[in-house]
Amino acid sequence: MWLNIVLATFTFLFSMRTRRDRILKPIITIGIIQIVSVPTYLLLTHPALDQLLGQMLVTLIVSGPFVVGGGTIVTHLDQLQARLADLAMTDVLTGLNNRRAFYERSRQAHRGAGSGVVFIIDADHFKRINDRCGHAVGDLCLQSIGRRIRSVVRTTDVVGRIGGEEFAAYLPNASITVATAIGQALVDGIPVAIEADEAALIVTLSVGLAQGRRFDDLIAQADRALYRAKAEGRARLVVFDPICDSDPILSQMGDRAA
Ligand code: GH3
Ligand code: MG
Ligand code: MG
Repeated sequence: MWLNIVLATFTFLFSMRTRRDRILKPIITIGIIQIVSVPTYLLLTHPALDQLLGQMLVTLIVSGPFVVGGGTIVTHLDQLQARLADLAMTDVLTGLNNRRAFYERSRQAHRGAGSGVVFIIDADHFKRINDRCGHAVGDLCLQSIGRRIRSVVRTTDVVGRIGGEEFAAYLPNASITVATAIGQALVDGIPVAIEADEAALIVTLSVGLAQGRRFDDLIAQADRALYRAKAEGRARLVVFDPICDSDPILSQMGDRAA
């Protein structure tokens, strides 16, 4: 009996450690232990055959529920862990990557691609939309912006909401021609249908675009191009230009003045 308890405990602990095939592996494990336990048991106690079968049955009955229970708990914990990891990387409002996930995933994609395009996208006069239509409508607008950005890029491109009303997209290996067309499609204005309101609200975007090889440069350059888009009147795409966008402080001053 003691041997059975030890085996049952061992089986249970082993199944808790086994992270893959949580149901199958513990069952296989218990089967193997049963097989191994036979000669051990015979050596130690020399029981009659029917007693031996009885002991094996008891072991199965005692350890079985623990093994299945342990496996189920581990499965649920793993699912919970995966869900939490997913939540930690997702922007709840839009379902896009959050800031951290955007940087991690686009950096990773850039390592494989070597060159790419970064868009930094900011909703224009968003504070006014909130003030005039309410925060809930503002949220609807953010969701529409997210869907719109997602719809104009490839599924393999990385899109994220990196700030309140600021989004970003990373397109590995994209050419400047393709990226410019995508950027133009974004600045056309996004209609947001509001319930109980006849006319759709039009949200415009300012987009900064940069293309090149060093990821950190791309982000900084797209950001500077965005500042110029704001300074030049908003609702437009600006492609980073090393001459016009060389001084970030001046760009920021231009933005404040606009
Ligand atoms: P600009 O064209 O210069 O970008 O002007 P702006 O009004 O868009 O920029 P500003 O930074 O002055 O205001 C951003 C606004 O975005 C203010 C903030 O309340 C709103 N905002 C940020 N996050 C959220 C959000 O999650 N939901 C809603 N509804 N509004 C948000
Ligand atoms: Mg804005
Ligand atoms: Mg902003």
